[in-house]
Amino acid sequence: MELNINIKISVSCGEPDTEKERKYAIRLRPHHLLCTQGYSGVGYDDTFKTRMDEVVHRLRTEEQTPVMLVFSTDDLCSACPNRLGEDLCRTNEKVKALDQKTAECFHLEEKTYIYQNLVRIIRKTITPEVMDYICGDCSWYPVSACREQVLGSGPDQPSAAVIHPEE
Ligand code: SF4
Repeated sequence: MELNINIKISVSCGEPDTEKERKYAIRLRPHHLLCTQGYSGVGYDDTFKTRMDEVVHRLRTEEQTPVMLVFSTDDLCSACPNRLGEDLCRTNEKVKALDQKTAECFHLEEKTYIYQNLVRIIRKTITPEVMDYICGDCSWYPVSACREQVLGSGPDQPSAAVIHPEE
């Protein structure tokens, strides 16, 4: 797919400096940077929902949350019924593609960022075409409010929409 994507997230968007900040970091796979903006309290099961509630609460109430991007299963996957093992999801091909496209579009690397800074930059730079490119294969994309949230009609901080039931 030919896209005019010219988005560059620089290191200046905030890497934690201290060991303490790194230890406090939430491990997130790249496409969960988008899912966590859309979450509205609906999840696969109670265990997963509880984990999402905890993580999203931190991301939406703290000013600067360190997130360690991992191109693998993350702190949300560890409570998910679709997780089959380390770096193995029941819909692995699909979620790997979501991760790859998210990382590609925003030049993300496997390192620690400040979540709120990333979200601000994503929301400033993403276009409907880029979001279609990343999320087009997600079963919830056509019916959820993620598009509205991430594309800018939502508030600055991540808030309501719907979590993907099967990504
Ligand atoms: S569906 Fe896969 S990628 Fe999504 S939270 Fe569950 S294990 Fe992780």
